[in-house]
Amino acid sequence: MPQLSRRAFAGALPLGLIGGSLLGGGLLGDSAARAATQEAAKAPVAVNPFAQIRIGRFTVTALTDGYADMPYDYFPGRSAPEVERAASAQFTARPSGVRFLFNQYLVEDGERRILIDAGAAGSIGQTGQLPQALAALGLKPDKIDAVIVTHMHQDHMGGLVLGGKNNYPEADLYIDRRDVTHWTDPAKRNGAPDYLQTSFRMAEEVVRLYPRLQAIDGEREIMRGVSIVDLTGHTPGHIGVRVEDGGKSMIMVSDMIFPVVHPAATDVFFLFEQDRAAAKAMRDRFFPRAASEGALIAATHMPFPGLGRVVADHGEMRWQVADWALQD
Ligand SMILES: [Zn+2]
Repeated sequence: MPQLSRRAFAGALPLGLIGGSLLGGGLLGDSAARAATQEAAKAPVAVNPFAQIRIGRFTVTALTDGYADMPYDYFPGRSAPEVERAASAQFTARPSGVRFLFNQYLVEDGERRILIDAGAAGSIGQTGQLPQALAALGLKPDKIDAVIVTHMHQDHMGGLVLGGKNNYPEADLYIDRRDVTHWTDPAKRNGAPDYLQTSFRMAEEVVRLYPRLQAIDGEREIMRGVSIVDLTGHTPGHIGVRVEDGGKSMIMVSDMIFPVVHPAATDVFFLFEQDRAAAKAMRDRFFPRAASEGALIAATHMPFPGLGRVVADHGEMRWQVADWALQD
């Protein structure tokens, strides 16, 4: 009978509490289990998650720098209650907003290691985990041969600089020239709102500390099978990275797609997007194409590991998480 009542009780609880309840009945006394559960709830998450997929000869490893919750009123094009309702419908509503992950992707072929984006490095929310994530793979920053920064927002380039120093001393750095020009222009900086000032300051620092910065003009191959895709809109020089080999491919689209609001609509934006018409045009172009091609997508802010596809479902676009584990 106690077993039955516990089950009935557990049915109404969040999953995390069900685990605690079963543990209490099995291995530990009730009070010890409660204490352990309370301790675990207080401790920071200690595990650096990573996910690996194979794209032909490449191994692509998803790593994360952490997360931040974006207030519901950071999505122009929809009201805060509308965004919150959409999050609730997806069971992802949090009191403080929409949870953004900060995912980076390490691309390796046994000869070169390319890192796509460098994370927010503590400049937003609970971030700054990328160095530990690389360390968990046995990698120090000086083992990275190249970094591609998809655009010069602080959450994508923050980790390039650590303690006022170049954090990837052996890396070539690739950034689209339109972003380098925009984010180092004093006139643009003077006219920009407060929430973009950190990105302007970081951009100046990155250009100064990375003499091996190569400004990219248009779509091109960085190495065999790794190429730049023009996704201008979110910022003037917003780019994606296509990884392709052996008949397989993946495209890292950075801030093309945000959780909760995309890809269902293209007339909803993130606060940091200053040119909304360009951002909408980019998504209007990309989402249907990605859906018809079934492109495997990696996206910075989607739930870890940020791998999925845009699918057209009875005329509605939705995000379909990719089945990435234990695949060949
Ligand atoms: Zn971003």
